[in-house]
Amino acid sequence: MTSEKSNDQFEYLKRKLDKFLEERNWKEYHTPKNIAMSISIEAAELMEIFQWINPSALEVTTSKKLMTEIEDEIADIIIYTVSLARTLDIDIFEVVTEKMIKNNLRFPPVKES
Ligand SMILES: [Mg+2]
Repeated sequence: MTSEKSNDQFEYLKRKLDKFLEERNWKEYHTPKNIAMSISIEAAELMEIFQWINPSALEVTTSKKLMTEIEDEIADIIIYTVSLARTLDIDIFEVVTEKMIKNNLRFPPVKES
């Protein structure tokens, strides 16, 4: 995936979200604090799916129920993340790329001896 395509896709999601919020008069509720809390709440909903179970990746991917629940929560997390980026005018692709560079420096690759 090229960076241009990634940016286009984030811009598309931002526009879709903007329209969704506009049509419902919900923009006023999408304050930075409310959205940050919502990201955390949706991440907790993702964890709740795994509460008291510990399936392997194969068990998850072969369970339609688990996959649907997980996909829904991942979408919720991304929707709120895009909303926060939209609200604060953050370029998601740029900040993720920058953070990966920082992580690479912080956690250098393991060298084979
Ligand atoms: Mg949810």
